[in-house]
Amino acid sequence: MSAASKQSTPASTAPNGDLLILSTLNDDGSRRWLKPRPSPGKFWHARRAVAYFLIALFTAIPYITINGKPAVLLDIIARRFTILGYTFLPTDTLLLAFTLLIIGLGIFLFTAIMGRVWCGWGCPQTVYMEFVFRPIERLFEGTPGRAKKNWLQNSPVRKFIKLAVFFLVSCYLAHTFLAYFVGVEQLKYWVTRSPADHPTAFAVMAIVTALMMFDFTLFREQTCLVVCPYGRFQSALIDRQSLIVAYDKDRGEPRGKKPASADVSLKVIGDCVDCNLCVQTCPTGIDIRNGLQMECVHCTQCIDACDAVMAKLKRPLGLIRYASQAEIAGEPRRFIRPRIIVYPLILCILITGFIITLLTRTPFTATLLRTRGAPFIELADGTIGNNARLKLVNREDRAVQLQVVPLNGANVKIEASDLTLGPNEIREFPIVISVARDKFSLGKSTASLKITGGTDTELVRTFQLVGPGSMHDEASRKAEESHEPAHKDSQDPAKHDDEPKEQPH
Ligand code: SF4
Ligand code: SF4
Repeated sequence: MSAASKQSTPASTAPNGDLLILSTLNDDGSRRWLKPRPSPGKFWHARRAVAYFLIALFTAIPYITINGKPAVLLDIIARRFTILGYTFLPTDTLLLAFTLLIIGLGIFLFTAIMGRVWCGWGCPQTVYMEFVFRPIERLFEGTPGRAKKNWLQNSPVRKFIKLAVFFLVSCYLAHTFLAYFVGVEQLKYWVTRSPADHPTAFAVMAIVTALMMFDFTLFREQTCLVVCPYGRFQSALIDRQSLIVAYDKDRGEPRGKKPASADVSLKVIGDCVDCNLCVQTCPTGIDIRNGLQMECVHCTQCIDACDAVMAKLKRPLGLIRYASQAEIAGEPRRFIRPRIIVYPLILCILITGFIITLLTRTPFTATLLRTRGAPFIELADGTIGNNARLKLVNREDRAVQLQVVPLNGANVKIEASDLTLGPNEIREFPIVISVARDKFSLGKSTASLKITGGTDTELVRTFQLVGPGSMHDEASRKAEESHEPAHKDSQDPAKHDDEPKEQPH
């Protein structure tokens, strides 16, 4: 049996007519290897143009700079994320939350209108599989449905050469992918040096290359079918008015070859001639005639295949076409519906929140963190002090010098003489905040600090101090009485600066 004929079995339909659970499994549970037959129709040509544009864009983005910064750099190790010239730091949690919500809701809205257009046209898995790896494979192993073979396809070493080319493409992909996380300069540095100079980076590169190779050589459409959650969300995200790739059952059924004598007007038989080309061309191995399925990535290959058949038979195109479920059922198309109003409204609110947060974010942030250890110390001048840490984050692309000014009778002692932060730098400084003993009530007092710097930015932070008479003090006293070592070295602040604990303010 030829590869092409093996593909002729409707993938999502068992021989007894039952639907198979997974289109890539044979009845005996073994992997059903798909070799989809290409259908180069108008959608395929359009998708190919989009795919090559996206591949060029994906390759170019790490090299593009905006205001001297990379257009995109997701520096996970330094926890700095540069997007379109803006650098976001871990303290920008509100912006991150807005961004994630906007992306999530944008996907909801886009899917409600356009169905899974992203899967078929823009997803890197589809783009690289269908327009890079599969064309390479067809070059070496022949095209299903086309008998003509070139010298490569007849050569015994073709599989080996194919895998070697796959490996090179996977290497390129892995390097491009990693450039988004380490930047092109770092990447160039690593690539031009021996792996022994940077074993960790080399190991990461090797693992990513191996993963790419595994995905595009072996795992393939399984990524869409069993790994990617998007297909599973599909049923919740789309409705009867969303655009999908759909088979017009009313027009196509009953399927089969029309008898020459049949009166077309009587509709003895539908327009589907049961040629199975829509199945043979499907990259996920399903039969679109079984209706909307989670496995359908809306790649439009079945549209192109069926349109070619209809054109040959001189019948109207579009037996399989982009349409909503309502349209296919003969109901009027209704664009405006509750989710199409609610999603954009929420999106507007989120985008406004994002813009306001971005425009009003201060050039630097300051956070006071309580240091674990002795609850308080009595200083030489008689004041009661608490050990803390001042965490400063410079959001600017230039160095900034900051000053700390205690307010309302508080005192502050900072070991560091210079509070200068480099561009986008995050630093913590051990400090001791103290107030007079008589300012404590029930073992508690409050101190305020003003942090100034940058372009006349002032931030005021308050810190709740604990002192004599507090619960901590009581615990400490009891521990001392029972000769427990707790807080034994409470007079030495240096010994209590392990895990910081955030002080709410
Ligand atoms: S390609 Fe069109 S005519 Fe052929 S089986 Fe599929 S739906 Fe029917
Ligand atoms: S059913 Fe059609 S649109 Fe869906 S994945 Fe298969 S070929 Fe692509």
